[in-house]
Amino acid sequence: MKSPFPRHPAASASKLRMMAVICLLPFAVTALRAEEPQPPVVDPGQPGGAPSDAIVLFDGKDLSKFRGERKPEPTWKIADGAMESTPPGGVFSKEEFGDIQLHVEWAAPTVPKGEGQGRGNSGVYLMGRYEIQVLDCFNNKTYPNGQCGAFYGHNPPLVNACRKPGDWQVYDIIFHAPKKVDGKVVAGSYTVLHNGILIQDHIPVGEKSTTAAPLNGFAETGPLYLQDHGNPVRFRNVWLRKLNAPAK
Ligand code: MG
Repeated sequence: MKSPFPRHPAASASKLRMMAVICLLPFAVTALRAEEPQPPVVDPGQPGGAPSDAIVLFDGKDLSKFRGERKPEPTWKIADGAMESTPPGGVFSKEEFGDIQLHVEWAAPTVPKGEGQGRGNSGVYLMGRYEIQVLDCFNNKTYPNGQCGAFYGHNPPLVNACRKPGDWQVYDIIFHAPKKVDGKVVAGSYTVLHNGILIQDHIPVGEKSTTAAPLNGFAETGPLYLQDHGNPVRFRNVWLRKLNAPAK
């Protein structure tokens, strides 16, 4: 039915303007929000490589980023792009780190020798204090908090995700170091993926180090330590990203 009241031209123009504002507002807001500070761009690299903001500790060529545990220079052998645990002692990174994302690939020796803790034993020690156990647990039983992927002596992994000896395996670790706030230690945390599978889920970590860790006690940072346990475990593609640090 036709309105008995004639439409005022000014009212019509005002309505059009309002509709235009309503229609264009989301685009304007989107454009404005695109000007907000952006997350840094990181080139993730190719599979098997390190991202652009990583510190590469070992790229298969040399051990210049490490020092020896028992001797000034590392005693570990390098062959076929991997370093191999070679007595005496493990290797410490020269640089120290706190909160990190760590990527390490490792392979247990073939042919497998020994049983339990004697088969393919090594370890990835965060800050030289907190060991994520490296052990050949493929058809090899041991105590749960000492098996592959355990926070040694404290916390077993959620599952055993081991590949067979000789196969390359991957640890991706998110580590937040304990902090000291008003003189008191506040727990950090660690999360571990083994071959892409979650095995340690945001577990608190305080001052208590792993049994027989080469370093002990509270510190803000510490070196990455790879253990020599007398078994020729190999490592490659060792890199990390400092967390809470500006991208390079
Ligand atoms: Mg070990």
